[in-house]
Amino acid sequence: MQEAKRLQSLPPYLFARIEKKIQEKKAAGVDVISLGIGDPDRPTPGNIIDKLVEQAHNPENHSYPSSVGMMEYREAVAQWYKNRFEVDLDPASEIVALIGSKEGIGHISFCYVDPGDVNLVPDPGYPVYGIGTLLAGGEPYNMPLKEESGFLPDLDAIPEDVADKAKILFINYPNNPTGALADIGFFNKVVAFAKKHDLIVCHDGAYSEIAFDGYEPPSFLQAEGAKEVGIEFNSLSKPYNMTGWRIGWAAGRPDVIEALGRIKSNLDSGAFQAIQYAAIEGLTGPQDSVKNMQAVYKERRDTVVNGLNAMGWNMKAPKATFYVWAPVPKGFNSSEFAELVLEKAGVIITPGIGYGDNGEGYFRIALTVDNKRIEEALGRMKDAIGKVEF
Ligand SMILES: *Cc1c(COP(=O)(O)O)cnc(C)c1O
Repeated sequence: MQEAKRLQSLPPYLFARIEKKIQEKKAAGVDVISLGIGDPDRPTPGNIIDKLVEQAHNPENHSYPSSVGMMEYREAVAQWYKNRFEVDLDPASEIVALIGSKEGIGHISFCYVDPGDVNLVPDPGYPVYGIGTLLAGGEPYNMPLKEESGFLPDLDAIPEDVADKAKILFINYPNNPTGALADIGFFNKVVAFAKKHDLIVCHDGAYSEIAFDGYEPPSFLQAEGAKEVGIEFNSLSKPYNMTGWRIGWAAGRPDVIEALGRIKSNLDSGAFQAIQYAAIEGLTGPQDSVKNMQAVYKERRDTVVNGLNAMGWNMKAPKATFYVWAPVPKGFNSSEFAELVLEKAGVIITPGIGYGDNGEGYFRIALTVDNKRIEEALGRMKDAIGKVEF
C-alpha cells in the first residue's frame, strides 16, 4: 500500500544511525550512559499521585471528558498565570486543555495551514513545529538560530513575501535545544512583527519553570498585545516530572484557542478527568518539589559545564532548561563527534544536526540522569578524548 504523501513528506529519522550504534554497544556489554533524552528521570511528586489515585476511584471521572478540559482545570491554569506572571486569562475563552503540549503544537497547523502555506520555524528546534506544518500540507520556513544573536531568530532577515505569506510563527524560550533565553523586549518585537505580517504566534514555554541562579523566565503573554496575536503552550511535563501523564494547555488569543478546541473535539475527547484533577493539585498545591527539582538540575548542569571546561571548552552555564548545548571540537561534524564519544566513552550525546541544519557544529547533553552518572560520563569522556581544540 502506498503511504499518503503527508507521511512520505516527513524527514528521515536522523538518530537512526546512532541508535543502531547504541544497540551494538549494549549488545557488546558496554555500560552505556545516555545523556541523550530530555525526559525527567525523577518521579512525579507524591501529592499529585495521591490525587490521581483518589480521583481514579470516582466513577464520575470514568466517562468522556470535555475535549477542551474541565472548567476547574482551566481555572487552575488561569490562577497559575496570575500568580506566576501577573497575566489575566479568561478560563472559558482563553485556555484549552491539551493531552500534553506536543498534541496542541502538532494540531495547531491543522487549524490554519492549507496545502502550500508556510509556517516560520526555528532551526535548530523541537521537531514538532515543522512536522505539524508538513502533516497539514504546509512548508516550514526555517529561521536560523545563531549563537552570535543569542539563538534568537533574526526576524528582519525573513523576506517580506515569506513573512506576509506565513501563517504561524513558532518560538520557544527557554529554548530546546540551545538553552537560550528571551526577554520581554524580544517578545514585544515578536508581537509587532506578527501584527505587521498578520501572523499567529505560537510560543512554546515548556521550560518556563526549569531555571537557575534566580532567573525567572517570562511568559510570552506578558508582552503588550500578545493575546491579540498568539498563544502560549505549556505543560506539567517538565516542572512536575509528568511527561508520561500527557497533560498541558494552550492559553491566549481566544479565536485561536477556540479553533484548537474545535479541531480537538473532532479528533480526541480530551484528557482523563482524574489526570486533570491531579494537574490541578500540581499547579495549586505546594511548590517545594519545583524548587528541589531546580536544585537537582543546577548541580548536574554545573557537573557538565565544569567537566567540559576542564577538557578545553569555554562554556557559560545555561540559566534555564535541562540541556547543555556545546560546540563540537575542531575536526568533527556533530554526528562524527557523537559517534566518537559513544565509541570511546560509551556516552550518548545528541548531534545538533538532529535539530536542523543550523544545529550542525553543536551537540546537546540532557541533564536527566543522576549526578553520579553524569560525573562518570564526563570522567570517561576526559579519559577517552583528553583536551579538545576549536
Ligand atoms: C518536552 C517539550 C515539550 C513538552 O511536551 P509535552 O507534550 O507537554 O510533554 C514541548 N516543547 C518542547 C520544546 C519540549 O522540549
